[in-house]
Amino acid sequence: MADAMRILSVDLEDWFHILDNPETMTEENWRQFPSRVVMVTEKLLELLDAQSQKATFFILGYIARNHPELVQEVARRGHEIATHSDMHQLVYAQTPNAFEADLVASLEAITQACGTTPRAYRAPGFSITQEATWAFDIMARNGIEVDASLFPARRAHGGLPGFPEAGPCQIQTQSGQILRAFPMSVGKLGPANIVFSGGGYFRLTPRPLLNRLFQAQDYVMTYFHPRDFDPDQPMIPGLTLARRFKSYVGLRGAFAKLEGLLTRMDFITMGTAEDRVDWQTSPTVSVQ
Ligand SMILES: [Zn+2]
Repeated sequence: MADAMRILSVDLEDWFHILDNPETMTEENWRQFPSRVVMVTEKLLELLDAQSQKATFFILGYIARNHPELVQEVARRGHEIATHSDMHQLVYAQTPNAFEADLVASLEAITQACGTTPRAYRAPGFSITQEATWAFDIMARNGIEVDASLFPARRAHGGLPGFPEAGPCQIQTQSGQILRAFPMSVGKLGPANIVFSGGGYFRLTPRPLLNRLFQAQDYVMTYFHPRDFDPDQPMIPGLTLARRFKSYVGLRGAFAKLEGLLTRMDFITMGTAEDRVDWQTSPTVSVQ
């Protein structure tokens, strides 16, 4: 078997960047909460350095404007700089024009903060649904070459359950542009498909099972948030009981879980993964 491709990625946002909740939708909402992103991300950066591992950071333009020194620190430590939109809104809930303005604003804010212009994008909440695949054309014409927004399973904020590829592939947009894509990975547990390598799924999955799933797969895409490792964050108002569970379960053990994984196996950035893929022969999926 060729080397497994395990990609480490972090969505760089604050603990209050929670989707689909009326209390945390706008900048005005966010301004009422104390920011914790710098402190928690620094802890994460220390862990990555101690384990000599590099990650791709999908950064919010909002974070780049408000905490430019943090984005500089991420870049200085050699991690890959990518964008996670500007204001963390669901793609399918926006008009194409609003999506484009948001994407451009994020590219400007991140470039301004650290001097690197992102060429990779991940949608907030993996929210590129079948109805929002127009977003790929807008990405392509704004210099985005790599996408990490595809979630080939059903989920709260969208996902593309019918997406046929489980690993790196190319997307042909409606106007015929080609983007490279690294979909979210889905693990096999007997006959069931399970998501295990990010966010609440990672925090919920018991450690032995997590190790087994990470080791069994040829391709793993992770997605972590600083808040996944912050047990002392305040409780977000307005969440339903189910969402509160998903947002807060397992916070206390998550950092040690990640540390265990980083000790056991090697991870790479999405950029390094890109160099390993033979794009000439990789499958192309057209999104119409
Ligand atoms: Zn996010």
